[in-house]
Order: sequence, then structure tokens, then C-alpha cells
Amino acid sequence: MLKIGVLALQGDFREHREAMERLQVSTSEVRLPPDLGGLDGLIIPGGESTTIVRLLRSSGLLEPLRTLAREGFPMWGTCAGMILLAKRLDETGIPALEAMDISVRRNAFGRQVDSFEADLSIPALGDVPFHAVFIRAPVIEDIGPAVDVLARLPDGTPVAAREGRLLATAFHPELSDDSRVQRYFLEEVLGWR
Ligand code: GLN
Repeated sequence: MLKIGVLALQGDFREHREAMERLQVSTSEVRLPPDLGGLDGLIIPGGESTTIVRLLRSSGLLEPLRTLAREGFPMWGTCAGMILLAKRLDETGIPALEAMDISVRRNAFGRQVDSFEADLSIPALGDVPFHAVFIRAPVIEDIGPAVDVLARLPDGTPVAAREGRLLATAFHPELSDDSRVQRYFLEEVLGWR
């Protein structure tokens, strides 16, 4: 049976677990290196990326996760999780896994529009728009040649991308009732049927 780990150092890991368990997928919390055993994929939740990086270092998870990401282990980062996956960050970001060939700008919408919701066209999920929740969200500013952009804001800014077995969303699918991004991660990225 499939088992998905959810990095549980800080942030909205409980919401991610609940969203997966609604699909009858079992999950477990990852806090220390031994927790990585027996997993089929890892979710890196939203939260505060600078705090999560600090905790990744003190827990000893940073190096094992960097190695797993390099070896093609399936990972999905939402919001702060996307920041942790990125190879390049703006001057406020602290590099973490440096796995995905994207440049990311933190808190890209400023204080005035801290949080917002938008219906996004995401062709990989079908024709029905996806109702996306953005909370102090980052954006993708630049992508490498091996990266596919999965979703853009109406002005063209990329907010979801995939590179091999790495998936990144600037928004929070775990806060919507719609399970299509979870299914995409399980079916397309992990190859689970
Ligand atoms: N603004 C946060 C950061 O830069 C990310 C916000 C989120 O994960 N919802 O780490």
C-alpha cells in the first residue's frame, strides 16, 4: 500500500495529511531522518520557509532530503515547500534542497494582497478551473529547460510547475475540497494507479 510522508516540522502538514487520507492514501509525519524509511513520496507543506530550513538543519533532514531529491524521489512542495525545492531564490530566501530548476520570489504579492483566491486553468487537471488559495505566496520567475509550467495567473506568472518527479505549487491545494492536484501527484508523478 502506498505511503506518503508529510514533512511535519512546521506549517500546514495536518491539512496535507487529511487531504491525502480523504483519498484513502496512508500518510506519516516526517520529523527525523529515520521517518523517511518506507515512503513512496514526500509532501513539503506551506508554512514559513526560513523556519522550516532552520528545522531541516537541526533535525538532520536537510542532507538526506537533498540526496533523495537529486536521486528522483517524488516530492511535492506547496508554497513554502516550493521555496524549499527551488534552486534559485530572491535575496530574502535561504537555499534548502536546491533541486528544481526554478527561480522563486518569496512573498511576491506584497502586504496589500497577502492572500487571495483565483480560479486557474490547469490543463493537466482537465477543463474545469481549479480554485486556488494563495497565502503570502511565492511566484516562479524563471524556469529551466526541463521544467513544465502547469499553471499561470492571468498575467502569465507561473504558479505551478513540474520537473521530473518534483512538483511545486505556489498555492495550497490541501485547503480546497478539490483533490485533483493530490491525484496528479499520485497518478502522474508517482505513477500510482
Ligand atoms: N511566505 C512564506 C515563506 O516565504 C510562504 C507562505 C506559505 O507557505 N503559505 O516562507
